[in-house]
Amino acid sequence: ALSLRGVTKDFGRTRAVEDVTLEIAQGEFVSLLGPSGSGKSTILMAIAGFVAPERGEILLDGRPILGLPPEQRAFGVVFQGYALFPHMTVAGNVEYPLKLRGIPRAERRERLAKALDQVRLGPLAGRYPRQLSGGQQQRVALARALVFEPPVILLDEPLSALDKKLRVDLQIELKALHERLGTTFVNVTHDQEEAMNMSDRIVILNEGRILQSGAPEALYNAPASRFVADFLGRAN
Ligand code: ATP
Ligand code: MG
Repeated sequence: ALSLRGVTKDFGRTRAVEDVTLEIAQGEFVSLLGPSGSGKSTILMAIAGFVAPERGEILLDGRPILGLPPEQRAFGVVFQGYALFPHMTVAGNVEYPLKLRGIPRAERRERLAKALDQVRLGPLAGRYPRQLSGGQQQRVALARALVFEPPVILLDEPLSALDKKLRVDLQIELKALHERLGTTFVNVTHDQEEAMNMSDRIVILNEGRILQSGAPEALYNAPASRFVADFLGRAN
């Protein structure tokens, strides 16, 4: 399980995240939902170990993530904007983190093939990012996050740049992948429909704080505040 306990993060005088406490079970699909600036990306970056909180702690199976050696901290992260290396092929992009870690060639090949297969990109392995659609590029970023078979996948609005139809297709694909892998997913979004469709649980954030957390139907049927009701009811 992944535990956040009283996590607070400031950037200068901006309090980006305030006293966030959250338990995420192994295999759960959790969406962090909230307006722009509500602290979603900061929480994800803190879980990934890229930013250190001012206060509080983040534990993976009871151990502080900042104390874990990098290979055990290897969360798969798909960033907002999912930057791929333009001069590398699909295979090159996905294989890159394996090379960085000095994984031997035979194992790299195996992991690469498996990750590409999981997102059905095998036939496009030799293409360059500019030769791919937005959705395909997004799947490359996802494959790159999967190569180490991490215990937790962190997604920062991976679908937000895509048009509606593609977004819905990829939601279904991501959901299927989640079910196949049984990996924990923490998905950041400001699209309430996406959160309702995909999540076991939704965590509603505003101004760095958790307003409410629960199963999609529970939040929809019993919002704790007007803000939550408006946010979930709003058609995006
Ligand atoms: P969006 O939906 O727009 O991506 P978000 O919910 O991901 O928003 P964060 O990026 O976590 O929001 O930002 C939370 C707050 O922290 C905002 O007020 C933002 O301006 C501030 N912030 C985030 N990163 C930095 C930074 N590196 N330096 C200074 N302030 C930051
Ligand atoms: Mg963000």
